[in-house]
Amino acid sequence: MATTPDVMDKLVSLCKRRGFIFQSSEIYGGTGSVWDYGPLGVELKKNIKDRWWNAMVRARDDIEGLDAAILMHPRTWEASGHVAGFVDPLVDCRTCKGRFRADKLEDARCPQKPSKQPGQHDACALTEARNFNLMFKTHMGALEESASVVYLRPETAQGIFVNFLNVQGSMRQKVPFGIAQIGKAFRNEITPGNFIFRTREFEQMEMQFFVEPGTDMEWFEQWKALRMEWHYALGLQAERLKFHQHTAGELAHYARAAFDVTFDFGGTLGFQEIEGVHNRGDFDLSQHQQFSGKKLEYYDQQANKRYVPYVIETSVGADRVTLAVLVNAYREESVQGEDEGRVVLGLNASIAPIKAAIFPLTKKDGQPEMARRIVDDLRFAFPVDYDETGSIGKRYRRQDEVGTPYCITVDGESAAAGTVTVRDRDSLAQDRVDVSQLKAYLAGKLVG
Ligand code: ATP
Repeated sequence: MATTPDVMDKLVSLCKRRGFIFQSSEIYGGTGSVWDYGPLGVELKKNIKDRWWNAMVRARDDIEGLDAAILMHPRTWEASGHVAGFVDPLVDCRTCKGRFRADKLEDARCPQKPSKQPGQHDACALTEARNFNLMFKTHMGALEESASVVYLRPETAQGIFVNFLNVQGSMRQKVPFGIAQIGKAFRNEITPGNFIFRTREFEQMEMQFFVEPGTDMEWFEQWKALRMEWHYALGLQAERLKFHQHTAGELAHYARAAFDVTFDFGGTLGFQEIEGVHNRGDFDLSQHQQFSGKKLEYYDQQANKRYVPYVIETSVGADRVTLAVLVNAYREESVQGEDEGRVVLGLNASIAPIKAAIFPLTKKDGQPEMARRIVDDLRFAFPVDYDETGSIGKRYRRQDEVGTPYCITVDGESAAAGTVTVRDRDSLAQDRVDVSQLKAYLAGKLVG
């Protein structure tokens, strides 16, 4: 059980108020567990995705990028096992009409008696569990009756498997190598919730690494370590991260080993999965080989042998990591000499939506004009914000709350001296910096 406080309600409100995340179709009463990213949220999530792409694709010669379509041939999902097996056990309560995941009853609350879990209250009348397929189904083509069924993909991985030989051949890659992609996935979750933790439409960042059988456990260990490092580098606190090893009961029948990276979301949610690292053996390529009738073997020229590679998969949710980053960054603190405290999002500067805010101390003496010139000079290097309304203290608070690492103030000395003050969000230290050096000064501090 986590001992860290529950900041979820405060975050949901901050995210709406400050333009990070809104409920989808809010004016119509909202859509169940679907969320829209506002101006600051889209920047934050994009920065997280860019860090992943840079670490997984740009920084390596042995991983290629891909952007496969959401709609795939329906046979894909028969081969992958999703049509038959991508199900959650579901129970209904005849009394309250609630619907719960039979395997997660301990995480749910009885709507009539929230201190108990469903089934524990005297009035509960739960049905037998039945399987519910999580894939969204629709039809392709103009005539519904003659059209074929298609699914919104429930994971991005299958787009990678079916393109294994296309990427390998066109990019002349040799095993071991990987394919990475970022994209939307859809699951008709029975019990979504906890803000953007479990939603019905979400984004995954997945990488499949193809290796020679026999070398798989070595690569598995390497990817486990590398992925945990990535979360540390994102700024998630080490004590809030830990691995969870899948027990024999949790392990998918084809999986040779699986670990989740879990993060402590605080409160009753506690440690939950944010990423899965899996050794999938040759299950996926063999299945697609069988269902498509097309060989998906790799020919090792040097050793003159053919084989179906094993796959080490790393699969992380962009939205779930965004939530982890927000929970991790949120803090309330008192400020010396001030009655009112401040709320700070202590985001790693590399992912902060706004890198610097520029303020004129007053609206006179050419200060706004000078501040505007600084904004124009910086805006193509970093996302910046201009603010001249309210007291300087209020403007600092507004930026602290959205995680802006630096605030630049044009004051009475600025015009004559050609300098401004730069205030650090966390230490509150103020440096006097020459305007001509501002871009280099910030660039040095913002290296991710
Ligand atoms: P869970 O047990 O939480 O449903 P899972 O084991 O089914 O997750 P995977 O299929 O391994 O998840 O998906 C990989 C990652 O995708 C997860 O670690 C998570 O970050 C993200 N993810 C999965 N389902 C959702 C969802 N409904 N909403 C948001 N993110 C999700």
